[in-house]
Formats: sequence, C-alpha cells, structure tokens
Amino acid sequence: MKNDWSRLRFYYDPIFLTHLEGFQHPENPARLEIIVEHLKETAIWAKLDVQQAPAADKKWVLTNHSEEYYHQLKAASEKAPALLDGGDTILTANSFEAAARGAGCAMAAVDALLADTIDSAFCAVRPPGHHAEFDEAMGFCLFNNVAIAARYALQAHELERVFIFDWDVHHGNGTQNSFYHSSDVFFASIHQSPHYPGTGLAGERGSGTGEGYTLNFPLPAGANDAVYMRILEEHLLPAIRDYEPQLLIISAGFDAHEDDPLGGMELSSEAFGEMTRRLRSTMKPLNGAKVLSVLEGGYHHNNLAHSVAAHLRALTEPISA
Ligand SMILES: [Zn+2]
Repeated sequence: MKNDWSRLRFYYDPIFLTHLEGFQHPENPARLEIIVEHLKETAIWAKLDVQQAPAADKKWVLTNHSEEYYHQLKAASEKAPALLDGGDTILTANSFEAAARGAGCAMAAVDALLADTIDSAFCAVRPPGHHAEFDEAMGFCLFNNVAIAARYALQAHELERVFIFDWDVHHGNGTQNSFYHSSDVFFASIHQSPHYPGTGLAGERGSGTGEGYTLNFPLPAGANDAVYMRILEEHLLPAIRDYEPQLLIISAGFDAHEDDPLGGMELSSEAFGEMTRRLRSTMKPLNGAKVLSVLEGGYHHNNLAHSVAAHLRALTEPISA
C-alpha cells in the first residue's frame, strides 16, 4: 500500500524565514530552508498540500498568554532587534507576525483535522513555542503554538480531551505549566535531564484536578531508539489509550537526534518515523488517527531535514493494526 499524501497538510509561510534573519543563532532561518530543500530533493514537496494560515487572532493568543505579554512582544518587534530572556530569545522586525502566524497555522490545522478534511498536519513554523510561558518569552519561544492550538480545540470545537506529547530533547515547561492544573489537556514529555530548562522531573504529575494528567520521562543523555520505544510501549501509549484523547498534538522537536549540537540523545532520524507510526496506530481506534504535529527544536540542519521527512512519511502511511 502506498503513502496517502492527500490526507496530510503541510503548513508553512515564507515569513518564518525572516525571524532572526542575519543573526548568528542556533534557531535560524536555515533550519526551515534546509527542510524545504530536502523535501524538494526527495520529491516529497511536490506531493505536499502546502498551506499558509492567517495570524492567530489576539483573542486566541490571550487564551494562553497575558495581554501585557502580547503587547510587550508586539512593541519589542517594532523596535527590533530586541533581546528577551537574558539574550537567549531575540526578536527581529517580523518576529511578532511570524509567531502569530505560527500559532495561526496550528489553529487552522485544528479546524481542518476536526472537519475531517485531513488526517494529519505538520506545521513547519518558527519561532518554536513549547518553552513560552503565560507572560514570558523563553528558550527561543514567543507564543506557545501547541498550547494555543489545544485551547482552541477545547473552546472553539468543544473538545474535552486533548493529548500533547512533547518529544523535543528539552522539557516543554511552558506547555506543562499551561495545563498543570487541568485534566482536559494531558501533557506528556520525554526529554533529557538534567538539561535546559531544568523542569520535567518524574514527580511533576499535575496538581488539583490536573493531578495525574502530566507525565514526565526525564532521561539521562545517551538514550537511544530502543529506550524511547520502550517508554512508548510501556508507559506513553497505555496512557494515551486510558485517556482516550479526541486529538493528539505532537510538540515535534528533532533535537534528540544523535548529531544534534544542543542535545545529548542518540536517536536516529528514523526513530521519529517509528514513534509517529506507533502513535498513529494507538490513535486509530480513538479518533481515526487525527494528529497535529508542530515543529519545535532541531538544530543539526541535515538531520533535522531527514528526521522531518521520516516523520512525514510515517504520517502518510497506511496504518497497520
Ligand atoms: Zn529543544
């Protein structure tokens, strides 16, 4: 059986290439340029349904961020370059608009998935989002794209259970904090620990009505494909089956790759395909395998591109039982 590329949508916008243009920074426009180049070389690009989306409306950004922070980012972008977060997170002239369109892509993908127009969406966005807090830019992130998408799915589409799995090598502190006290979004993460940002210990499991709806798998550097697959099979996939999510969102960072300069894990490019395959099989009986994937980190350009391609291939494969 052949891959069905017609049921995947690839969200991308040239404005993402202008964020941090000309800056020496690990989270740079070449990351996306090389992904697109590789997809063209491997003839995947021609099969992709590439779409843009309007910027997320302020109303939806404010479901996950403070109004003060929203205006702070807008003002910082207008007088760019601006350094936030101790200089780690930088804004250039188009950064606010790029961040708002990134969140807008994730929201448009939610609409298309829940209308059953598509089965999967990959948002190739910059800046990334999972470190962004309610009122603070952090770790190269401005707006928390996956958190805004989850809020949108709950409030605009009246979903009751959304599962976010974050496989970026860094813990998604911002996303965890967004939903730490609630049970309508389940947040799970596999990440390197100790490592930036220092959160994501196994004992962080949510609180109040959110207790038991946060699941962290901190791993020492050096974890390989087999370790990740074992965690999926023994813990993560059973948690998804128990929770019965109506939508799965992947915070898809590719910096747990063995060659990544910012991570110390040992994953192959194909591991991202294999995790995708197992997640889709698990989601098939729950929601027909509707999966939204949003780019986070990944800093070794060639291997980022190969890992994204493996992920996209797995998102379009027929699902084995
Ligand atoms: Zn990362």
